[in-house]
Amino acid sequence: MNFVASLKCRECGEHYPVEPLHVCETCFGPLEVAYDYQAIRERLSREVIARRPHNLWRYRELLPVNGDPVTGSDSGFTPLLHATRLGAELGVKRLYLKDDTVNHPTLSYKDRVVSVAMAKAREFGFTTVSCASTGNLATAVAAHAARAGLDCCIFMPEGVEAGKIVGSAVYGARVIIVRGNYDDVNRLCTEIADKYGWAFVNINLRPYYTEGAKTFGFEVAEQLGWRLPDHIVLPTAGGTLLPKVAKGFHELVEVGLLAPAPCRIHCAQAAGSAPVVSALHKGTDLITPVKPETIAKSIAIGNPADGYYVLGAVRESGGWGESASDAEIVEAMKLLARTEGVFAEPAGGTTLAVTLKLLAQKRIRPDQTVVVSITGNGYKTLEAAAGSVAQPLVISARLKEFDALFEQLKQDRHPFAGVA
Ligand SMILES: *Cc1c(COP(=O)(O)O)cnc(C)c1O
Ligand SMILES: [Zn+2]
Repeated sequence: MNFVASLKCRECGEHYPVEPLHVCETCFGPLEVAYDYQAIRERLSREVIARRPHNLWRYRELLPVNGDPVTGSDSGFTPLLHATRLGAELGVKRLYLKDDTVNHPTLSYKDRVVSVAMAKAREFGFTTVSCASTGNLATAVAAHAARAGLDCCIFMPEGVEAGKIVGSAVYGARVIIVRGNYDDVNRLCTEIADKYGWAFVNINLRPYYTEGAKTFGFEVAEQLGWRLPDHIVLPTAGGTLLPKVAKGFHELVEVGLLAPAPCRIHCAQAAGSAPVVSALHKGTDLITPVKPETIAKSIAIGNPADGYYVLGAVRESGGWGESASDAEIVEAMKLLARTEGVFAEPAGGTTLAVTLKLLAQKRIRPDQTVVVSITGNGYKTLEAAAGSVAQPLVISARLKEFDALFEQLKQDRHPFAGVA
């Protein structure tokens, strides 16, 4: 049993049946899942949710799935860390990290959207799943397909990190690298989806796939004790996550799980791929595509499919957007790792670097509650940090050599060499 009413065009409101459709035949607008909120309101409560397992299906009434989903039984419900040491450095007491670096099984927020897409792929009877990806989606689709027993073919642009290629192929997926950037890959995949009848999770299953992103927001609200933060900072690539977190917050109010409260939603992009932030700064609805050039490859999308909806969600919430240079991104990754023991990939460095800017601009006040979204794991993008961390010291296995080294460390004033 589920509570899905229909697919509905986000632009003209036309209704469609629950099938693998993604664009409106009348106006070419994107389709979105619509629910019977009244029925959900009668059925769902905080207590019901609290009794369920710690995975993203605890909010299943607000997700478009039937029966028992095939994957995702360990996806979602990632930690909301109270970042006390980082907060002390920034002067913010109630600073939290929503930590999807440990999302199961592929260590990024993409395990959420793919869990839902995989359930639908099985329901619709597809046997091959696929995607156009900047890297994290690839690993998630490959892993979930393996668990669901589906064939898998992955498309990524050239230049993607080794961890994302190996991390997809290892699950038995066929990986295809397309010469060009993500936007070229996506265009090609749209044609392939039409012609070959595969389930492209982020193309023909997009209305279902994107719903999975709401769980990021549901969890933030539940983990804060069914409250919204004053601010949440989210990264934007194709523009799925941010508007869906906003939709999730609205839904929690709609079904009576949350009292309405303001929450400013801020958009973070890498300076080398910031078409949405540029539009925010210019005050326009028009997003001018760019050619991405940044170490934050997972969010390097120059022509975001849902950028328009990111603008809408940010503005409606009273939020803002900023971008961070590659150098600022790496600095923020190191700051996060050094203070909180969380190794984020560049997308996480981007949201933290942007949070610092919003604090400096006084758009975020230090006495407010702030959630910084950490959406991917640094172990998958070692290339990004490798050049900016201290290189290891190499010695032979002789005490004399370490003694000499210790003298050196003492001169360099390493804290652990302080007492001779
Ligand atoms: C995909 C991704 C995002 C956000 O992408 P959207 O397309 O805007 O939802 C953010 N961080 C990481 C690590 C990602 O892989
Ligand atoms: Zn329409």
